[in-house]
Amino acid sequence: MNTMNRVAIVTGAASGIGKAIAFSLSQSDHQVVIADLSESGAAVAEEINISGKKCVFHNVDVSIKGSVQEFVHQIDGQFGRIDILVNNAGIRPTNPFREMDFEDWDKVMKVNLYSSFYFCSAVLPIMERNRWGRIINISSLAAQQGSTGGHSHYAASKAGIVGLSKSLAREYGRSGITVNVVAPGWIDTPGWGGALDGKREQFAKKVPVGRIGRPEDVADAISFLASDNAEYITGITLPINGGLYIS
Ligand code: NAP
Repeated sequence: MNTMNRVAIVTGAASGIGKAIAFSLSQSDHQVVIADLSESGAAVAEEINISGKKCVFHNVDVSIKGSVQEFVHQIDGQFGRIDILVNNAGIRPTNPFREMDFEDWDKVMKVNLYSSFYFCSAVLPIMERNRWGRIINISSLAAQQGSTGGHSHYAASKAGIVGLSKSLAREYGRSGITVNVVAPGWIDTPGWGGALDGKREQFAKKVPVGRIGRPEDVADAISFLASDNAEYITGITLPINGGLYIS
């Protein structure tokens, strides 16, 4: 099938890794739909449209079930299909466990983990109808290694994504749908850049390939997993970390 007709939803694509994914998928002629809380998603869509590719932006809070359902319903109505879903939106506030209260925990779970549940349950029936689908969920090195410095809720949410994805891969394989995870290491993005400020060289020295990751490193892998060529790959967690953690 011509990828030109395929519709790809990318959450959190107003910035960082998601933005690179939106660009990458649009360059291979997918119609990209950005779902982000940040209005700068409109500028990303405009930049893609100016380059002659197709992209639209919708302001969606991925942590609100009703908003996700309404958005997916609207996209299905408009395009008649949703072929690719990249659950990328995420937050990583710093809350040392001794000081963490339920609200801190709950917010991270809702944005990082519940959002994947909301999106997968809304989109899977549409993919099943078309008997083709690619879901790629973004986890983290933190899920594999654990996290230091006040990110235990983040690590737990990202580990939850792996369990959810493996299970969906098994349940939906016969429907022509693959479900995979990518687990980025240290990627230089606006959201995460603060942690690297003034320390880029120091961090780069710890990475076996000798540099911090770029959003495009993640986007390229996702474009492959979203393609026809990745038909026989499902349920995996692909580390994209320059060798920082080798299991
Ligand atoms: P980023 O630059 O902060 O971009 C995240 C985007 O998600 C932002 O546009 C943000 O909007 C949006 N967002 C946040 N909460 C949302 C919500 N409730 N509804 C809709 N959109 C929301 O982050 P990034 O570094 O590209 O990270 C992307 C993904 O990769 C995340 O899931 C992250 O956990 C994962 N990851 C990143 C790294 C890394 O080193 N960068 C490593 C491992 C995993 P606002 O700007 O308005 O908040």
